[in-house]
Amino acid sequence: MSTPDKPRRDAADRESSADESLVPKLSEFPAPVWPQGEPRIAGATHIGRVRRVNQDAFGRFDDGDRCEILVLVADGLGGHRGGEVASRIAIDSIGEQIFSGDGDPATRLLQAITSANESILRASRKDRTLDGMGTTIVGLLLTENGPSYVGHVGDSRLYRIRAGLIEPVTQDHSLVATLVQEGALTPEQAHTDPRRNQILRALGVRDNVEIEIAPIDIMPGDTYLLCSDGLHGMLEDDAIQKITSHGQRLESIVESLIDSANDAGGTDNVTVMLAQIPDPMQSRGLRGAANQLIESTRSAFARRDDK
Ligand code: CA
Repeated sequence: MSTPDKPRRDAADRESSADESLVPKLSEFPAPVWPQGEPRIAGATHIGRVRRVNQDAFGRFDDGDRCEILVLVADGLGGHRGGEVASRIAIDSIGEQIFSGDGDPATRLLQAITSANESILRASRKDRTLDGMGTTIVGLLLTENGPSYVGHVGDSRLYRIRAGLIEPVTQDHSLVATLVQEGALTPEQAHTDPRRNQILRALGVRDNVEIEIAPIDIMPGDTYLLCSDGLHGMLEDDAIQKITSHGQRLESIVESLIDSANDAGGTDNVTVMLAQIPDPMQSRGLRGAANQLIESTRSAFARRDDK
C-alpha cells in the first residue's frame, strides 16, 4: 500500500463563500455524432443541502471522427475556493488533452489524467490560496469501435447497470474501501464510518499519482453511471438501481437521483452523469411493435368501413 496522501474534505468547505446556484445545473447535451446509435448522455450537479459551495464538476467531450465520447466527474477537495478550482481544472484539462495525439484510447486517457494532475499542481504552486487543493476523477471513454475505458483516482465512482442489476465498476481509493477489502470493516460499517471521507489518492496533491485505467466490456442496453460521493454516500446501491430502472427520460433519472440524495440529507455536493448504450435489438423490437399497432389500427378502420 502506498503512503496515503490523506486529503480530507474538511469543515472549511462549508465556510466558503455562498454558491450562486441552489437549483440543479442540468445539462442536455447536443446532437448525435455516431453513425450507429450514439450513447445517450445526461448529467447534472447540485450543491446539496449543507455545503455553501459546489466543489464538484462534470463534463462531456466528443470526437466525431474517432467516434469517441468522454464523460467525466470530479469532486474537489481543499478549503475555501481550492476544491472547486481543482475539479474545474481537471475536467477542462482532460477534455482538452483526450483527443490529441495518435495514441490508443487507454494511453490517451492515462496521459490526459496525468497532465491534469500536473496542471492542478502548477496552479496550486502559483497561488498560495490554492495550496493543498486536489480532486478525485472518474472518466468513462466510450469508443464505438474497440474497447471502452474507465480511468479513476479517488472515491468518485463508475457503476454499470445491466439487465436491471447495478454493480460498481471502480473500487474507491479510500481508507474504508481498503479496510473492507482487508476484512476489517463490512460494507455496511464503511457506509457510516467516520473515516469514510479519507481518500488515499487524489489528483493535484503530489507529482506522482497512481491512476487506475481499465477496459470495460460495453454491451448494448447497458447504462453507466458516474457520480461523486454525494450520491453513493447518501444512497445505497439498491436505491440507486431502483431509481434508474424507472424507464423515464435520462435527464429525469439524473434529477430523481439528485433529489433522492438531497432527501436523504444532502450533506454533500452531488453530481451524476448517465450514459446509456443503445440497444438496436430493442429499438427494432419497438419499431416492430409500432408497425404492428399501425397494422391493427388499419384493419380496425377497415372493419368499420365494412359496416
Ligand atoms: Ca464529495
